[in-house]
Amino acid sequence: MKLLDGVALRDQLVAELRQRIEAAGSPPVCLATVLVGDDKPSQIYVRNKHKMAAAAGMISKQVELPASATQAEVEDTVAGLAADPTVHGILCQLPLPDGLDPEPVLALIPYQKDVDGLTEVSMGRLVRGLPGHVGCTPLGVMRLLERYDIPTAGRRAVVVGRSTLVGLPQVLLLGRKGVDATVTLAHSRTRDLVEVCREADILVAAAGQARMITAAHVKPGAAVLDVGISRTASGIVGDVDFESVSAVAGALTPMPGGTGPMTIACLMENTLAAARMLGAFAD
Ligand code: NDP
Repeated sequence: MKLLDGVALRDQLVAELRQRIEAAGSPPVCLATVLVGDDKPSQIYVRNKHKMAAAAGMISKQVELPASATQAEVEDTVAGLAADPTVHGILCQLPLPDGLDPEPVLALIPYQKDVDGLTEVSMGRLVRGLPGHVGCTPLGVMRLLERYDIPTAGRRAVVVGRSTLVGLPQVLLLGRKGVDATVTLAHSRTRDLVEVCREADILVAAAGQARMITAAHVKPGAAVLDVGISRTASGIVGDVDFESVSAVAGALTPMPGGTGPMTIACLMENTLAAARMLGAFAD
């Protein structure tokens, strides 16, 4: 079984971004984050993003607002970053504190700077096949498939989960021209999920249900990519029962250490792509 090591690949991708930036004469490439309130996990996520930006040879700017910030204050902050030519990528850490509506905030981020790929415009551009940013988690899955030489053309792919954050863009990416998988989108109303999953050469589990994918769901030799994260009494676990599935799968992500680190690597990739789209970086 091939282990789809997301930590090793993240480090490689981040080193490649750093090399590209250095080879271009180290122009400033800047990621700005907006953190509202004092949610601890959000603080940790944002801190890790800044650390990774530094590792990739980028600069980053952190804007923090108190939990008491008004909708107008958050929107003014994001509008300021949107208009700032020294900022290339904008990431607004979600969820926002209760009482704040993320939609009008996200709508202020121009698609070129939307490194999370979350806005309506970014999603529309993905559907239309226009240049823009794709969500970091589904993009990370694609990078794992590419870099670990998992063939996709003509293969059957099943994505479990249909959220706009992960499942839906994942389906679009796997079915794109050039990737060419034949994709099935499964969800909580899917009948005979075990049989559906067993048809997959590539199985992406993004349901958020602890260890729901067992050996019975997996066709021998299939590539299985675990996106789910569930906090259980025995710690953080994925959607995939690693032990039983590793005996059947041909390739498998570890959890942790699979799709999670790839998400942050792809945020850095999107930030460099943002600088390029804005004409601030050329190679
Ligand atoms: P959502 O809760 O928005 O979506 C979950 C999807 O899974 C829904 O479409 C739901 O179906 C489906 N689903 C739930 N239970 C089942 C089931 N028993 N069988 C089949 N389908 C099911 O979650 P997200 O898409 O935002 O996230 C999915 C998981 O990925 C979460 O655990 C999240 O923590 C994790 N995550 C991991 C990241 C990473 O970096 N690795 C990044 C982002 C998220 P229905 O639509 O019918 O309700």
